[in-house]
Amino acid sequence: MNLKNKNSQTTRNLVTGGAGFLGSHLIDRLMKNNEKVISLDNYFTGERSNLKQWINHPNFEIIRHDVTDSIQLEVDRIWHLACPASPVHYQSNPIKTSKTIFLGTYNMLGLARRVGADFLLASTSEIYGDPEINPQPETYRGSVNTTGIRSCYDEGKRIAETLCSDYRRIHNLNIKIVRIFNTYGPRMKADDGRVISNFIFQALQGKPLPIYGDGSQTRSFCYVDDLIEGMIKLMDSNLNSPTNIGNPEQFTIIELAKKIKQLINPELKLIYHPLPEDDPLQRQPDITKAIENLSWQPKTSLENGINLTIDWFKKAYF
Ligand code: NAD
Ligand code: UDP
Repeated sequence: MNLKNKNSQTTRNLVTGGAGFLGSHLIDRLMKNNEKVISLDNYFTGERSNLKQWINHPNFEIIRHDVTDSIQLEVDRIWHLACPASPVHYQSNPIKTSKTIFLGTYNMLGLARRVGADFLLASTSEIYGDPEINPQPETYRGSVNTTGIRSCYDEGKRIAETLCSDYRRIHNLNIKIVRIFNTYGPRMKADDGRVISNFIFQALQGKPLPIYGDGSQTRSFCYVDDLIEGMIKLMDSNLNSPTNIGNPEQFTIIELAKKIKQLINPELKLIYHPLPEDDPLQRQPDITKAIENLSWQPKTSLENGINLTIDWFKKAYF
């Protein structure tokens, strides 16, 4: 039976990974739009405190659940974000990471099929691996190691995209796939392990900034509000093929460290560590598809976004 509730006033959303960094910001946007929201999370990297502003709100529910187990719920839209995103966390138990991505996506697609819900997969720029072309358009098929320490995540997200595409072809599901490029902002945890949160937390303690490798590798950093705007536009669109969402402004890791030093304390030192295995040397989204089809592009400069993130870290930790 199709239990879709499209014509009613209030859309019922399930956000897996709802207590995480991106999931909690997405929930803020959906709640402010007067929609109904269920957050589903096992709290591996997420925090209940990210959702404290909605506890006891009549439109909001929390479920503690692991997506590797199936669940039955009545919802109209599934935003499937549950998965650790930082290399430190997804590599800490890589077999669990593969299970979370494959079984979790399979279970949530099964739920979407049963109730006829629209489905958005949080995929990643990591499906391009260590790319040979820069920037990366959606048509680029990637250069990915199947057996390295990043493979549980990279290959996991690739099979998740495959599963989604087969559910679309075979079961006619309304599928969206967002390929998220490095995103940062308030609510990243001090122990998250990703570069912007590491640099800000170290700098605020007056400690040296850790550079992996020689710091010439590049990334392109998107502020969280811009990313969430793009995700929502994608869910509302007719695009059913993978779509890059990210900020195309590209920086080396050294340039990023200098920017954060300049904003917090120019006297700070840099300390060098070996480059982790398979760390991509370049990454920059080609967002032509999002610009042309979603009328979306990021608005927040790196400097503004980092200042907002620094303010949040100061309040949360100091
Ligand atoms: P995060 O670690 O803050 O959030 C992930 C959430 O998923 C956490 O709340 C965690 O507890 C939950 N979770 C993990 N395993 C689970 C399981 N088995 N069952 C239920 N819940 C589980 O990470 P994030 O940055 O918010 O990333 C969210 C999603 O976006 C992930 O799917 C990630 O792959 C994707 N993504 C993020 C980025 C980024 O830069 N933030 C980039 C590319 C892709
Ligand atoms: N990095 C770094 N210092 C840190 C954390 C990360 O130099 O404290 C580097 C890392 O090697 C990578 C880049 O910054 O080249 C981005 O790392 P992050 O873990 O944020 O994301 P990802 O590698 O998944 O893009």
